[in-house]
Amino acid sequence: MNIPRPSLTWLYVVIALIIGYLYFTGEEGSGSREVTYTEFQQMVSQGYASKIVAYDDNAVEMFIKPEHIVDVFKKDAAKVGRSPFVKVQAGSMEALEKFIDQEQANGHFDGSLSYKKQSNYFGLVFWNIFPIFLLVGLWMFIMRRMGGGAGPGAPNNVFSVGKSRAQLFEKGSAKITFKDVAGQAAAKQEVQEIVDFLKQPQKYTELGGKIPKGALLVGPPGTGKTLLAKAVAGEADVPFFSMSGSDFVEMFVGVGASRVRDLFRQAKEKAPCIIFIDEIDAVGRARGKNANMGGNDERESTLNQLLTEMDGFGSNSGVIILAATNRVDILDKALLRAGRFDRQIYVDLPDLNERKEVFGVHLRPLKLDKTIDVDLLARQTPGFSGADIANVCNEAALIAARHGEPAVGKEDFLAAIDRIVGGLEKKTKVMTADEKRSIALHEAGHATISWFLEHANPLIKVTIVPRGRALGAAWYLPEERQITTKEQMLDEMCATLGGRAAEELFIGHISTGAMNDLERVTKQAYGMIAYAGMSDELPNLCYYNSGDEYMFNRPYSERTAELIDKGVKEMIAQQYVRAKELLKEHAAGHNRLADLLIEKEVIFAEDVEKIFGKRPWTSRSEEIMAKAEEAPALPQPEKAPETDCPEAPENREG
Ligand code: ADP
Ligand code: ZN
Repeated sequence: MNIPRPSLTWLYVVIALIIGYLYFTGEEGSGSREVTYTEFQQMVSQGYASKIVAYDDNAVEMFIKPEHIVDVFKKDAAKVGRSPFVKVQAGSMEALEKFIDQEQANGHFDGSLSYKKQSNYFGLVFWNIFPIFLLVGLWMFIMRRMGGGAGPGAPNNVFSVGKSRAQLFEKGSAKITFKDVAGQAAAKQEVQEIVDFLKQPQKYTELGGKIPKGALLVGPPGTGKTLLAKAVAGEADVPFFSMSGSDFVEMFVGVGASRVRDLFRQAKEKAPCIIFIDEIDAVGRARGKNANMGGNDERESTLNQLLTEMDGFGSNSGVIILAATNRVDILDKALLRAGRFDRQIYVDLPDLNERKEVFGVHLRPLKLDKTIDVDLLARQTPGFSGADIANVCNEAALIAARHGEPAVGKEDFLAAIDRIVGGLEKKTKVMTADEKRSIALHEAGHATISWFLEHANPLIKVTIVPRGRALGAAWYLPEERQITTKEQMLDEMCATLGGRAAEELFIGHISTGAMNDLERVTKQAYGMIAYAGMSDELPNLCYYNSGDEYMFNRPYSERTAELIDKGVKEMIAQQYVRAKELLKEHAAGHNRLADLLIEKEVIFAEDVEKIFGKRPWTSRSEEIMAKAEEAPALPQPEKAPETDCPEAPENREG
């Protein structure tokens, strides 16, 4: 396949030489002959010359009269062309002119004498050939670039474009089993069937049963979908092909489809085996939805090829396709039809107990000291995915190593969690005293309000140490809940607005520091009104259109749009007033909190309690929380819209 490059280069050199040769020789269609100056003089004297051309380098061309051609060339006139000439090098122009004048006077020469500049053959050739070299060079450059993106092991040239870039894990290599996947009991149970089938297919086929060709693993990133697919391959001890949906899509038309074909061809050779396609939405997005956006033909043909291949092999061929996505709702319906990815396995973020298990898996290789309390770690990491937890464990080990500790301790883990939550801590970020004060007032505003609102999330700690992009942050312990009431959302909105309200009340001018808060509040209010039907003007209406990804066709009228806008404005204005009122009421406490923040930079719930007294609602919400965490996870709703209906606020903000 790989054409050696030198031979290509030589090919073009040869072509260039041929072109050059043709150029030189093809110049005149007529014959010519070199003669000496004496011969030239004789010929002129004998009256052979019809015309003489003198060049600036003293070269002279003498054209021969037709009747004397035979005398000069000893050949037929037809063989030497229409205007044959002889070439001669003159000694000097003066001598030549003198000689010609003399011959003209004698009557031997009656033609014309003209002078010409010697044309630059080299320049001509260069400008004719150079563009060809340029093109060839460009072509070779592009070829190398196309080859350069090839995946591991792919031959480095353009011919490998249509090959699939699947990574192959042979059976028995780096074996991952269900033991390595913590939690996810339901998902494991579902894929167990696939494992059984791969182990003993005849047990199923004898009974006439059909095994699904594919299953879709649905869940947010980092929850262990890839891990689960690998574990299936490991448990069944079969080869595992791994590929990302985006690997299929290239800028060249037809490449995706040929990669799909190649992948299935390879897989059939290795059957029984598992094909895992990560991020299948990159190819599996619904076709032709936004015709006006210009459909992506390449992606569609890739998807069509995938469907064809899935239909093409019988359910007994032993190739099982697992695909992962975070968004089933945007997948093409054809992919989800019976006989294709007809079962969906939900792989969700781990709850408290599952997080403990995940910690269990990732703590195993670490050297820990006595202070580690897995329960506390799990409680401190609400909303973390399996990948985040793996990251925390690794980060904790790095921190411990940096401090030269003999074992990883609790403090290292807490620091690691902080770091993962807030991006890397930047101690070098300079902050003026004024800025520090205004950030402290802002964060104290959030803390104060959430302290006094029944439904706001309980506060864990507040800090004004800058982290990542955010200037300060307040940490809350969000309740892990599946549904949220209007009261909870309004209280959260009020607490989020508390930052700006504090700025306005106690600094006298507002700042950009609240932008993050405002964005969240606006989105939340919009979601409440347009999607969750929580306003008086538009009660019980959900304008969420799960079929229209980009919301190009708003399912409501202009007038409704105005109502929504108005509702959003009013809702936020009300909560802002409420926030300011609460802050005025507790102004003294708020200011003490802010001072404490300036002094200590980080304060905890206990410090807030010392200022405001026991939180009136603490006991109750903690009770609810404890219950919610003990209870088994609620079943997944039929179809959870993604962009959508407002969720509980994140546990931090700027
Ligand atoms: P996904 O494919 O869902 O994005 P991955 O399977 O790639 O997530 O997970 C990334 C990493 O996170 C894994 O390699 C593993 O270390 C860790 N991880 C995720 N979920 C779990 C889990 N349930 N148990 C143990 N480790 C997990
Ligand atoms: Zn804020």
